[in-house]
Amino acid sequence: MNLTIVGAGISGLSLAYFLTKRSPEIEITILEADSRPGGKILSDRQKGFLCEAGVNGFLDNRPLTLRFVEELGLSPLRSNDYSRRRFVYSEGRLHLIPETAHAFLTSGLLSPCGKARLIGEFFIPRGESDDETISSFAIRRLGREAYEKLIEPMTLGIFAGNAEQLSLRSCFPRIHELQNTYGSLFRALFKLQREAKKRGASVGPAPTGTLTSFYDGMEVVVQRLKEILSDRIVLSRRVEAVDREGDLYRIYTEGGDVYESDAVVLACPAYEASGIVRELSKELSRLLSEIPYPPVGVVCLGYRQEDLLRPLNGFGFLVPSREKRKILGCLWDSSIFPNRAPEGYVLLRTMVGGARSPEWALKEEREIYSFVLEELKDTMGIDTEPEFMRLYRHPKAIPQYTLGHHQRLQRIEEVLKKFDGLYLTGNAYRGVGFNDCIQSSYKLSERILASPPLVE
Ligand SMILES: Cc1cc2nc3c(=O)[nH]c(=O)nc-3n(C[C@H](O)[C@H](O)[C@H](O)COP(=O)(O)OP(=O)(O)OC[C@H]3O[C@@H](n4cnc5c(N)ncnc54)[C@H](O)[C@@H]3O)c2cc1C
Repeated sequence: MNLTIVGAGISGLSLAYFLTKRSPEIEITILEADSRPGGKILSDRQKGFLCEAGVNGFLDNRPLTLRFVEELGLSPLRSNDYSRRRFVYSEGRLHLIPETAHAFLTSGLLSPCGKARLIGEFFIPRGESDDETISSFAIRRLGREAYEKLIEPMTLGIFAGNAEQLSLRSCFPRIHELQNTYGSLFRALFKLQREAKKRGASVGPAPTGTLTSFYDGMEVVVQRLKEILSDRIVLSRRVEAVDREGDLYRIYTEGGDVYESDAVVLACPAYEASGIVRELSKELSRLLSEIPYPPVGVVCLGYRQEDLLRPLNGFGFLVPSREKRKILGCLWDSSIFPNRAPEGYVLLRTMVGGARSPEWALKEEREIYSFVLEELKDTMGIDTEPEFMRLYRHPKAIPQYTLGHHQRLQRIEEVLKKFDGLYLTGNAYRGVGFNDCIQSSYKLSERILASPPLVE
């Protein structure tokens, strides 16, 4: 039995790993369009700075991911306590996002009315609809000010997304579930805290877990998987189409090579999968094409520490859309992980573009540097030239789970039932993060191994 995986990002690589570990007899081929594996994971060492072009880390709250990296022989590196100090730029200055009730009451981020409205969440009735946008949910439950200053920038930070279009149910399933179960988020928090206290654990409003990476950056995971799976990965083989004859799939690549396979997993972005399945199913192709991917630019800047006026004592900051600035936020990478900048230097990563302001990610490189420096001058007071600059572009960055995503997935599953042995995985479907990709791949590996033809 053989299986072809299209795409050697973390989704495709981890799937191949889980399958070969449990069932070494499966013949696996991974076809990757790029000349390197890893997809959105790229740790680039330049002039002593370690730049994460895409994925920066993962939360250590998923045992599966921790087991996976430990099996790979890698030592996870937790970020230091600064990673809990997150800022929002609002009305001309950086505000620390309050973590405790006392900090919330004394914080200047929300006005007294905004705070009172937020606390009033307790009394807001449960929503009627099965799904709604993040903005409609947050404005209804938490008030406009908390939405604009806290929830909207958080949505930008995770999805580079537009909260007026994204589905609460698909982007934040836990919050959707808490509202459905308890009626109010505060009520849920109090009840869960009480239950956790009895067990000696704790529950907070933010996702638990510590941001985690590796001393040499996230790409070490890819390098290790590449060593393990090396003879199975075929690089620079962009898949263009898949068709089916009887029980066999034929996979056509850009260079003219044709592969035959009993099963195919499309672990590439949805817009690529859409083109690949066009001849198999027009409907599947259309559904996949409906998942948008806005562009994002990542600008890495290295400064001499002594040239910066403010201490970089935190994770970085996000910029709400209402501030009408040209950047989404800036992460102070060298403050939270070691080995990101040479001694005496700091590394900042600024994000531009996303669903709300894609045009800024598409500007010429020189223009991007120029407006990012201006924005950092206004927001952080940095009035000096960086010693190092590097731009990483992602023309189609992060899939957007827009309203209706849930129904779209249900319909995709219906259509897939007609194609035994054809599977989809990756960050386009059930979670955009590194942890989600590993979980989806693990679940898919179990499904594939349980289906009779492959274990015969
Ligand atoms: C700027 C940025 C920052 C991010 N930061 C984080 C973060 O800090 N933490 C986090 O958890 N997540 C982050 N993410 C989300 C991240 O994308 C996912 O966590 C994960 O890396 C996605 O992996 P994937 O394998 O599903 O997709 P990808 O990494 O996109 O991999 C897909 C692979 O398919 C290949 N491919 C595409 N088309 C074809 C084709 N036709 N034929 C063959 N191969 C093809 C691609 O070349 C690529 O290698 C970030 C994303 C971006 C863009």
